[in-house]
Amino acid sequence: MKDTQFKSHAPGFWAHEDISPEDWNSAKWQLKNRVSKLEDIEKHLTLSEEERAGILLTGTKLATAITPHFLNLAHPTDPECPIRRQVIPRIEETHTDPSEMADPCGEDSHMPVPGLVHRYPDRVLFLVTDRCASYCRYCTRSRVVSGVSDQKLQTQWDQAIEYLKNTHQVRDVLLSGGDPLLLSDRKLESILSRLHEIPHIQYIRIGSRIPIFLPQRITPALCDMLKKYHPLFLSIHTNHPRELTSEVRDGLTRLADAGIPMGNQSVLLKGVNDTVEVQRDLVHKLIMCRVRPYYLYQGDLIQGTSHLRTAIAKGIEIIEGLRGHTSGYAIPQFVVDAPGGGGKIPVNPDYIVEQNDQQTILRNYEGKTFTYPESSPIETSIEGHL
Ligand SMILES: *Cc1c(COP(=O)(O)O)cnc(C)c1O
Repeated sequence: MKDTQFKSHAPGFWAHEDISPEDWNSAKWQLKNRVSKLEDIEKHLTLSEEERAGILLTGTKLATAITPHFLNLAHPTDPECPIRRQVIPRIEETHTDPSEMADPCGEDSHMPVPGLVHRYPDRVLFLVTDRCASYCRYCTRSRVVSGVSDQKLQTQWDQAIEYLKNTHQVRDVLLSGGDPLLLSDRKLESILSRLHEIPHIQYIRIGSRIPIFLPQRITPALCDMLKKYHPLFLSIHTNHPRELTSEVRDGLTRLADAGIPMGNQSVLLKGVNDTVEVQRDLVHKLIMCRVRPYYLYQGDLIQGTSHLRTAIAKGIEIIEGLRGHTSGYAIPQFVVDAPGGGGKIPVNPDYIVEQNDQQTILRNYEGKTFTYPESSPIETSIEGHL
């Protein structure tokens, strides 16, 4: 019964091209056959004018690249398809809103070493590559990701490791990029082992969309390597339930079986996942894949992404539509990564109707109100007891 919710899409549109299952299931083949040129995308999709112009005009800001696996999930003719909106450029990307920035979360100004973002006292973000399997059009790090813009990432490996060895308050290292799981097993293991041997680092996290874009990369060999570096957490990134295919679920199962706790980070995107229904389906499928919804992000103020952003009120409405209506385990924390570099700020529906010294009046998910009284001070006297 549960199984019917996870459809296989292999090889789908590629069927007419006579691809062997061995090729299709190989990460190497998937990467080699990524689709990025207009004429190749048009072999698979009927493009709108907005998409065609987007593909031709946005190439110097963020590259276009889509794995066959992911493109296969796209609707062949509908440009409003939630898969297409995430990875096919549109002409709207050439419009920069006055509020938009290249580095809205102020990462570049928080780098003690190039490639290492140290914003919070006890944890760091370590950018280990500037490449991904496919490129999300709303990428928060498009200023350095994909290799086409003028700014380059230029991570200083030895200097970064040295900084971490000497900075004892750092307990938690989060590998990101780009996508760390795009590195070879050997390269990734060399980073993990160097971090693992630093005594004050308690655990490592990896942020990756590879389980979604390239599930073929989640091999038993990769999982066997990763599990040597416990405690190791993985934050995946998925936005729409259609992304959770049977191939993706099988990869996530291998990771969960390797003992890796997983969370999901979604970005709230207009026309992709900005309804309670889509979010509910997504979080339920995630839990079935043993992934806990972690964050739901308000879209960062990245240049050329206003067509994908929603109002903050939309995120609050979605959380309100989930809380009480589904398992608490399935509800992510809605956050705004503060423009200018303030870090992630949680934003929640307000369940407090009124609060004073005597009582708090609360409302529940059905809108009914309840009163929680403050206790009056206890009068204690031991006089006459001894
Ligand atoms: C998101 C982020 C982290 C990790 O934040 P958590 O809330 O602990 O997941 C750490 N450093 C930077 C710079 C970040 O943007």
